[in-house]
Amino acid sequence: MSDPKKLYEGKAKILYSTEDPDILLTHYKDDATAFNAQKRGQIVGKGEMNCAIANALFQLLEAAGVATHYIDCPAPNQMRVRRVEIVPLEVVVRNIAAGSLCKQTGLPEGKILPQPLVEFYYKDDALGDPLLTRDRLLLLDLATPEQIEELQRQALQINTILSDFFLSCDITLVDFKLEFGLTSDRQLILADEISPDTCRLWNRGETDPDRRVMDKDRFRRDLGQVENAYQQVLERVLSATSSAG
Ligand code: UDP
Repeated sequence: MSDPKKLYEGKAKILYSTEDPDILLTHYKDDATAFNAQKRGQIVGKGEMNCAIANALFQLLEAAGVATHYIDCPAPNQMRVRRVEIVPLEVVVRNIAAGSLCKQTGLPEGKILPQPLVEFYYKDDALGDPLLTRDRLLLLDLATPEQIEELQRQALQINTILSDFFLSCDITLVDFKLEFGLTSDRQLILADEISPDTCRLWNRGETDPDRRVMDKDRFRRDLGQVENAYQQVLERVLSATSSAG
């Protein structure tokens, strides 16, 4: 029987091995970083809140037929997941213009996009996670044409499921980032996490651009009430999942 070994410590999570080589244990941390880790801090209780939110969202996606790495949560800030080989891409889906899309294109924040936009960013801190074109993805051997199609298909399917779900929570899903992994039999499945750290979530009842923010932008932009916003998201997600189940 081998003790759990720390395999990797990321900005928001620690990954441990388990007795089963096909299963890893993820520990969600309270640490928060932004702007490629130039800004660092803590969001009290974030580990448990994000783990509980991700737990509910992964279960929702699995029930809708999306394959994910999620297994279960043995403790409030721990998630057991299938071991996968992470594809070094951040797959971002956008419904409304915000963040880097506005900075890079001049689109006004809050503009509803005519159709969801799927983008690929290279997961490489040293390079600053650059936006990739399809040809660059192929050039760098980051994905085959079939895998690009598959990532796009899954990203849009996940967007439909999550957008509808968050609507039932009175929350607008503005944009979000996904990561995928390859299983030992080369199946692409959803990995990493889905939480207010990785999504832009706006309170539907609010029009004020600062007050409506329920996600990590509160930390990035020093808007205050960060814990409160995450707690609100958790409560709404839990109440929507319990009424749906
Ligand atoms: N995002 C993320 N991790 C990253 C970069 C972006 O989870 O390293 C999420 C972010 O929270 C937002 C979406 O991806 O929901 C789009 O982010 P964007 O490209 O606008 O970058 P940002 O403005 O956050 O730098």
